[in-house]
Amino acid sequence: MDHKDLQLYDVLIIGGGVVGSACARELSRYRLRIAVLEKNLDVCFETSGRNTGVCHGGFAYDPGSLKARLCVEGNRMMGQLSEELGFAFRRCGKVLVGNTEEEYARLLEVLAQGETNGATGLRMVDEAELHALVPSVVGKFALFSENSGILDPFMFTVSLAENAAQNGAEYFFDNEVTGIRREPDGTWVVQTLHALFRARWVINAAGLGCGKISDMLGITGYKIIGSKDDYILLDRRMGPLVPMPIYTVPSNTYMGIHVSCTVHGNVLLGPTAEATDDLTYYGVAQHNLDYLYAESMKIWPYVKRGDYIRTYCGILPKWIDENGKIGDFRIEIRDDIAPRAVNLVGIESPGLTASVAIARYVIAMMQEREPFAENDAFDPVRPRRPRFADLSPEEQARLIAEDPDWGEVVCRCEKITRAEILSAIRNPLGCATMTSVKYRTRSMMGRCQGGYCQMRVAKMLEEERGIAPEELVYMRRDGHPFFGRVRGEDPEGGTR
Ligand SMILES: Cc1cc2nc3c(=O)[nH]c(=O)nc-3n(C[C@H](O)[C@H](O)[C@H](O)COP(=O)(O)OP(=O)(O)OC[C@H]3O[C@@H](n4cnc5c(N)ncnc54)[C@H](O)[C@@H]3O)c2cc1C
Repeated sequence: MDHKDLQLYDVLIIGGGVVGSACARELSRYRLRIAVLEKNLDVCFETSGRNTGVCHGGFAYDPGSLKARLCVEGNRMMGQLSEELGFAFRRCGKVLVGNTEEEYARLLEVLAQGETNGATGLRMVDEAELHALVPSVVGKFALFSENSGILDPFMFTVSLAENAAQNGAEYFFDNEVTGIRREPDGTWVVQTLHALFRARWVINAAGLGCGKISDMLGITGYKIIGSKDDYILLDRRMGPLVPMPIYTVPSNTYMGIHVSCTVHGNVLLGPTAEATDDLTYYGVAQHNLDYLYAESMKIWPYVKRGDYIRTYCGILPKWIDENGKIGDFRIEIRDDIAPRAVNLVGIESPGLTASVAIARYVIAMMQEREPFAENDAFDPVRPRRPRFADLSPEEQARLIAEDPDWGEVVCRCEKITRAEILSAIRNPLGCATMTSVKYRTRSMMGRCQGGYCQMRVAKMLEEERGIAPEELVYMRRDGHPFFGRVRGEDPEGGTR
């Protein structure tokens, strides 16, 4: 096929993580035809769904760096974004606890660095104030960041993507980009496993795949290594003891062990931070769990193995710069090598906090080269889907009277109803996996981790999509939870 026969997009975004989805949402403010190419079956299936969900304050990064600037900007935007998009966000603050004179001196350096970066709401607190803020912590003093917070990383990404789709952006899942070429007319032709796409602009927002896409664009030589972070997730029972994330004193390269909290009341222990060349392995080793237990107990002596409900890990893409050091966010347009291609490299932490600020920075760079016309129809507000568990008894009764699906609780741990599961399955991006339902509703995320609701969710997904049980996937294309019947069909009905 001649490339001119392909539909022409204004912008192709490679990667449906939080950064790609933020770019799609922010670009949909302009009159542009936008597509997002994602190799997985949904958004948020890589690093954007495997992090701590902390809205960082911006004090931990070198002054003058993009990490510092875009983190501070992203932090300031989070309240408004949460209002518009309807994801959970709480500006609960955060403490960095210490005990020794050296740690006190280091925290003062971090405070000064934060102020240089423009981070606000930072101050040292003594032991009494620390324990008034977080009674369960062990520590003699702390740096308190009152503007840090926590957010739901799954729904943040999903809501950016859904709002982008609502404003006209198109998502193509299961489309791994395998090749990119530039045509003599200056347009980009992007080959995926299943299709060809053509666009005037390309954005590399491929996260852990950023080095490969950069090579495909002709911007070669980036060295990316992974930093693998293991975490333990504790039952919501322990949530009230962690009102805000508790961090230890950071070094220049490692944030240190933390005991954090999620917007849904769980507690997180982590991370391990191990360098790795394998950017696809998400296993968690027992010796790391033992290490996290021992280290967390030093600052929060309430860890009980009986409260573990899950372990997980995420991998940060760290770009090693020309000096052999971990690089800043690299966001560039190489007009000499790859005009009209925005290359994002090494978008590690604080990429979640900074994502929308990154997107606006990217668009400003694009607009320096080509002004875009405003999309007057852009709607920043994503329609809300009610969460039954958060409603008053009167509101719950009203919904059940309108539709009995609100009265059927499918996930008992998190109190998620059939109506919420159906609404998640019918979302604007489509729903091909059980994990898509999990990330949107929190079914299968409670104490029993799906022991009760998983089969019910599977059945609803099969019925809604009109597929056989063997066709269902949990998360990945070949991740089938069912592969045949244990018992045959009974001609009288039921099973035998
Ligand atoms: C353990 C951990 C904890 C963290 N905690 C925090 C935190 O508390 N606060 C914070 O601000 N930040 C945090 N971060 C950082 C933050 O999660 C990341 O910076 C952010 O999620 C990066 O988003 P992204 O969209 O760039 O990458 P991703 O989410 O990885 O998205 C990239 C997407 O590109 C797709 N892709 C890759 N290659 C291809 C290809 N060839 N074709 C098509 N698609 C492709 C991938 O499938 C993926 O969906 C943490 C990270 C980790 C690992």
